[in-house]
Amino acid sequence: MVEGRSIPLYRCTPPPSKESDMTSLLSPEITTVPELTDRCDRCSAAAKLVVVLTSGGELAFCGHHGNRHRDDIVRVAERIQLEEGYEWAGK
Ligand SMILES: [Zn+2]
Repeated sequence: MVEGRSIPLYRCTPPPSKESDMTSLLSPEITTVPELTDRCDRCSAAAKLVVVLTSGGELAFCGHHGNRHRDDIVRVAERIQLEEGYEWAGK
């Protein structure tokens, strides 16, 4: 009876990395334009941010509402246009 050297079949389990799983989220394409002529859909101030929705529609936000709704915007946006000089908090 020959006893060969058995190679343990242990598989190296990589450490769980939950963070890397989150990268599957699509992030919208962000462009900057010199000027926006739209008005905010919420308060009709001059728009600083226009969102093209994945569903096909469009939404415009002023600086105040753009920042306030940034989480929702990122979730539904396919593309985002920012007016030049506007520091959007959702970027
Ligand atoms: Zn507004």
